[in-house]
Amino acid sequence: MFYFIILREYLVHMKRFLHLLSFAFVLGFTHQAGAQEICGYQAYVDYLDSLNSGIKKNIETTFFEAVKKSHIKNKNTQDTIYTVNVVFHVVYNNETQNVNDSFIYSQLKVLNDAFRRTNPDTVNTRDIFRPVAADARIEFVLPTVDPDGNPSTGIVRTQTSYLTFGSSPANLSRSDLVKSRQVGSAPWDTEKYMNVWICDLSVNGFDGLLGYAYPPTGASNWTGSNSFSTSEKQGVVVHYKVIGENNPESLATGSKTLVHEVGHYLGLRHIWGDGGCGVDDFMDDTPLARRASRGCSIGVNTCTEILGAQFPDMLENYMDYSSDECQNLFTRDQVAQMRINLTTFRSGIYSVKEVNSGPSILPELISFEESKLYPNPALNELNIYIKDADVTGDYSLILYTLLGQECKEIQLEAKDYQVVNGFSELRGMYLYKVKKNEKTALEGKIIFGM
Ligand SMILES: [Zn+2]
Repeated sequence: MFYFIILREYLVHMKRFLHLLSFAFVLGFTHQAGAQEICGYQAYVDYLDSLNSGIKKNIETTFFEAVKKSHIKNKNTQDTIYTVNVVFHVVYNNETQNVNDSFIYSQLKVLNDAFRRTNPDTVNTRDIFRPVAADARIEFVLPTVDPDGNPSTGIVRTQTSYLTFGSSPANLSRSDLVKSRQVGSAPWDTEKYMNVWICDLSVNGFDGLLGYAYPPTGASNWTGSNSFSTSEKQGVVVHYKVIGENNPESLATGSKTLVHEVGHYLGLRHIWGDGGCGVDDFMDDTPLARRASRGCSIGVNTCTEILGAQFPDMLENYMDYSSDECQNLFTRDQVAQMRINLTTFRSGIYSVKEVNSGPSILPELISFEESKLYPNPALNELNIYIKDADVTGDYSLILYTLLGQECKEIQLEAKDYQVVNGFSELRGMYLYKVKKNEKTALEGKIIFGM
């Protein structure tokens, strides 16, 4: 179910990639892999499972429970802004690895922009995906005191005798030594802080693994072996070469790596579901994808949606493996899931910043008995009748697939009767809503093209 890997130039399963990597070393092949990225999420899950069989299943169970809970939304859970305490551990052998504060501040800004959807590249989100792009309302701050109450910058620096924490084949128990007191930097209480370790993950100069993260596991409920000691290891590890948008040494795949890994840390899966078209990521608003994207191949559509409108692969999503320059969104469902995971499994690491006391954002059904859309079934043209339309109202028509994916939004005129075109690409049954001032005024099912 879970894989990952993303290489910008190559797209291969991790084991194949690592095999290739080992093979390359045997041959003394030195490949400058500047634009490659691998995410070690699955490797971590496999690693845990090898220590304690059944953990993988437990993680999946946890995931599905969270998906279910994320669908139970209420006003508070939607509006609240959560502020997460994040501590960065820089574990370095030499000064190059000892990335300076300005790179960390720059990285923190990229992370915050991504989780508040204030990143400047939201302008690159394609129109079809704008309706589902969402502000996660999660912010990350550096603590000003350490766990002992002493003043702190939230950046801890530790010199190590290890030249690198990378290994080939990838061995996360070795990489995890970066979290040890002996050769790394011990975590701050993982139930109170999100710990991020920055270190060298390269192998013989090859930048293969760029980061890995631990998904929430509900570990405290487990009664298995202590050997995997999940609470000690919770957090994110990132290669020092991907820290900082302003870092001239940064790899091209750079600064979105931490965003992706924090997505895993908050329980998201890759958007291609780590499998083919038959495997979903269980988010209703991410289109199916056969595999990880690479590069910025706008328009590629690797899977046919089961019902309704067809969508290209969502390579704007942070949980894809597309190039950083085209990643710019989390979806509403991903946001809902991260928030429920945060409040369920990582409830000690955040504080509540504010609760919006504005009007409810839950839909409010207004009854217009005689309003309607016709004909039904329809072809390219639709007549819309809104009884006693309010000329000052803001009306729109939104179409969804039967899976709930928003697929078309049309601004309507504020008048009783109008004809709308532009449905010729639609085939099959859809759900529709006519909204007035963002509130649902009319809804139902409609068939197009048949
Ligand atoms: Zn990943």
